[in-house]
Amino acid sequence: MNTERKGILIVVSGFSGAGKGTIMKQLLLEHEEQYALSVSATTRSPRPGEVHGREYFFVSEEEFQAMIRDGQLIEYAKYVNHYYGTPRKYVEEKLALGKDVILEIEIQGALQIKKNNPDTLLLFVTPPSAQELKNRLKGRGTEDEATIASRLSRAVQEAQGIEAYDYLVVNDDLNQCTKKVHDMIECEHDRIARNQEKINSMRQELTGFVKGE
Ligand code: 5GP
Repeated sequence: MNTERKGILIVVSGFSGAGKGTIMKQLLLEHEEQYALSVSATTRSPRPGEVHGREYFFVSEEEFQAMIRDGQLIEYAKYVNHYYGTPRKYVEEKLALGKDVILEIEIQGALQIKKNNPDTLLLFVTPPSAQELKNRLKGRGTEDEATIASRLSRAVQEAQGIEAYDYLVVNDDLNQCTKKVHDMIECEHDRIARNQEKINSMRQELTGFVKGE
C-alpha cells in the first residue's frame, strides 16, 4: 500500500441480517494493514459471545449521555430502543495514520456523517432478495419474534434511505462481495478530487520540462 495516501472514511450500512458484519470481518482479515474498524458504544446488552471493547463498548444510558455531552461521539442514533454511537478519537487517530476507517452503522448515523464529512464513502449492503432477508433474520436465532418484527419494519424504513448511499453491495457470495467492496474503496482512492496534490505536482513538473528545467 502507498503510505502517502490519505485514509478514507467509509460508512457501511445495510439491513439487519444482510451480512455486513461478516463482510467487514473478512475485509479486515484480508487487508489488515489497510483498514481500521471502528468499535461503537451502545446501551444495548451484549449478545452471547460478544466482548466489551471488541464488538461494542457496552455502556449505561448515563455513560452514553455523558459521551454525547462531552463531544466524544462523531454521530449517534437510537435504533430499536437503544443508543449507538461512534467514538471520535479512534476514527480521527486512524485516519491521520492513513488508514481507511470503516463505520458499520445504521442510516441516521450515516446521514449525520455524510453531512459533516461530505467525502465519506457510503455503502449499503443488502441480501439478494426481501425473502432472503426475512429468512436470514429468522435463521440467526438470537432474537425473539418481537425483535425480528421490529427489525423487519425498520428494514422497510431503511429501504427508503438507500438513495443517500454511493454504492449498493449485494451480498450473495461472501468472497466475491468482500472483493467487490475492497475494489470499490480502491477506486474511491483514485478519484480526481482525492488526488489533487499529486495532479498539481505532475502539472508543475511537466511545465518545468517544457521550460527545459
Ligand atoms: P446490533 O444491535 O444488531 O449490533 O446493531 C443494530 C444496528 O445499529 C445495526 O444497523 C448497526 O450497524 C447499527 N450501529 C452499530 N453501531 C452504531 C453506531 O455507532 N452508530 C449508529 N448510528 N449505528 C450503529
